[in-house]
Amino acid sequence: HVLLVFAKEDSQSNGFCWACEKANFRCSVARTPESALECFMDKQHDLVIIDHRHSRHFDAEALCRVGAGSMCDTVFIVCPQRFVENSNMMACYNELLQLEHGEVRAQVKLRAGNAIFMALDQSQEAIEITSEDQVIQYVNPAYESIMGYQPGELLGKEIIEVPKSEKNKPDLLETINSCIRKGKEWQGIYYAKKKNGDSVQQNVKITPVIGQGGSQRRHSSMARIHSMTIEAPITKVINIINAAQESSPMPVAEALDRVLEILRTTELYSPQLGTKDEDPHTNDLVGGLMTDGLRRLSGNEYIFSTKQPHHIPSHLTTPLSLNDIPPRIAQTMENEDSWDFDIFNLEAATMKRPLTFLGLKIFSRFGVCEFLNCPEATLRSWLQVIEANYHSTNSYHNSSHAADVLHATAYFLCKERVKQSLDPIDEVAALIAATVHDVDHPGRTNSFLCNAGSELAILYNDTAVLESHHAALAFQITTRDDKCNIFKNMERNEYRTLRQAIIDMVLATEMTKHFEHVNKFVNSINKPLAAGNGDEESVKSILTSPENRILVKRMLIKCADISNPCRPQELCIEWAGRISEEYFAQTDEEKRQGLPVVMPVFDRNTCSIPKSQISFIDYFITDMFDAWDAFADLPNLMQHLDNNFKYWKGLDERKLHSLRPHPE
Ligand code: AMP
Ligand code: ZN
Repeated sequence: HVLLVFAKEDSQSNGFCWACEKANFRCSVARTPESALECFMDKQHDLVIIDHRHSRHFDAEALCRVGAGSMCDTVFIVCPQRFVENSNMMACYNELLQLEHGEVRAQVKLRAGNAIFMALDQSQEAIEITSEDQVIQYVNPAYESIMGYQPGELLGKEIIEVPKSEKNKPDLLETINSCIRKGKEWQGIYYAKKKNGDSVQQNVKITPVIGQGGSQRRHSSMARIHSMTIEAPITKVINIINAAQESSPMPVAEALDRVLEILRTTELYSPQLGTKDEDPHTNDLVGGLMTDGLRRLSGNEYIFSTKQPHHIPSHLTTPLSLNDIPPRIAQTMENEDSWDFDIFNLEAATMKRPLTFLGLKIFSRFGVCEFLNCPEATLRSWLQVIEANYHSTNSYHNSSHAADVLHATAYFLCKERVKQSLDPIDEVAALIAATVHDVDHPGRTNSFLCNAGSELAILYNDTAVLESHHAALAFQITTRDDKCNIFKNMERNEYRTLRQAIIDMVLATEMTKHFEHVNKFVNSINKPLAAGNGDEESVKSILTSPENRILVKRMLIKCADISNPCRPQELCIEWAGRISEEYFAQTDEEKRQGLPVVMPVFDRNTCSIPKSQISFIDYFITDMFDAWDAFADLPNLMQHLDNNFKYWKGLDERKLHSLRPHPE
């Protein structure tokens, strides 16, 4: 907003008027000193141009003084002192633009000064401004309170007087100072010492500020922003490495660059399979289990055998209590607490409905009904309806697999370390999660469903398709009907906690996250346990923190889910036969439907089952069970694993492709 104080209209005042219009500035004109003063008071003009070519009209300097007294942030230009008369319109226009970009903007900034200091006062980040000779000129209240000083206590002190933390590297201050001296900004991790002597780690940014004109050293100061923002842990890690790089020799700094590159990727826990010429079995298993496969554009729908959830078969709707389990079935479950328990006997005795019976027995052993405050009849109906929703036509992913995983889960829950770590609600969540974890599995992998553009893949956006479905369907089936709603009598918050834990565990069975779960478990639990001095308190704090309990539960269900290579040899062989058959059936269907073949090695005409098992054990099982054994102490499982591995190796060395040396 420009005010022209011109006694008379002439080419010069017209030149400025025109220039204002061209520059899109508002423009007013005053003819007398009185009206000019009135204008000053009335409106905030950014620029006042006073005509002083003819001193007889008014005293321009006096006007400036009065005006400047009331409008200290307005720029006054006296013509011809500051602007030599030139009525050329472009000259006026150029002058206006220069003023606007220079003095006027600076004045506008100054006008905001009060507000800026108010903002600094309110900021939650600690901010400190010092002069170049390091005298503190300003600290904001956040700084004072974080560092434990009284308001005003630090003002005027030299930084040198403020105690320094010994935690900083000895040459850090010199590094910072030399950076600032060069006019460069410094950012990194700095330990500041609070008034009470404690050190706090801060992410600090120090900016040299050169005063107006650039060379007036007197004006230079430093603004330190001690960032207190809440950062993601990975950002902290990256900052620490950045800071370490500053004072590291070249080779270390370069190595750290590589580290940073890796840290910035999102898939931190997924191994990157190198070249394609690695073992094809590993390639196929990894490709088949750990990716969503090639996405196909043509929608080749995979039709599920059932859209409606199954209902309980009539021969199982008769009331059944633990007490009236047929003796033959009860007998096959006598040693259900042993690792060597034979699930296939139970499968046969129950006519492929082992989950209900084993569920009743195990849930009662763990007092699940008491915990849930639910009648045994509800639990029974629930087990029956869940079991009915497993596909008995799948060779592997049927209710016997669920019963097997439930069995392994119950076995792990009795291990001392696991008991120390988990609460009753975790145990109940684990047993329920194991029971439902593959419900309504179609006998096809996630990759297949994505490639086929199946309804489920579309519903779950090609992400954890099956696992999302198992978890969601389990809750739908359970809560749809009071007769089987085992959660019905739970208190709301407890239900929410339990539900959360069940969902988390079912989702943890997804193989794309396999290495993430295993690595997190090792890093957060096994390593700290091994590094600690073993005293009861520290062990307990590692085992029972909420984050670590989640990791234990994930690891537990993952190990239960793929424990078949650790079962006694005959059981292990049977499971290998079943999973291979399911994969073969998928390959058959992929070929039939012209879909991409996700795991070409699993072709029933050419597959070497021993080779596929060796790869599966090498890639997924060995490390995971080493870690789980280190935690839960499972020598019998490790012995079986070793035997089974040798068994498959033996067959492979004899170039056999079958499950057994003499296939019947
Ligand atoms: P889930 O579908 O929850 O049972 O997840 C376990 C995954 O591991 C499944 O995709 C299985 O196909 C796979 N798996 C389990 N046991 C074996 C095995 N012995 N050989 C190859 N793959 C297996
Ligand atoms: Zn499973």
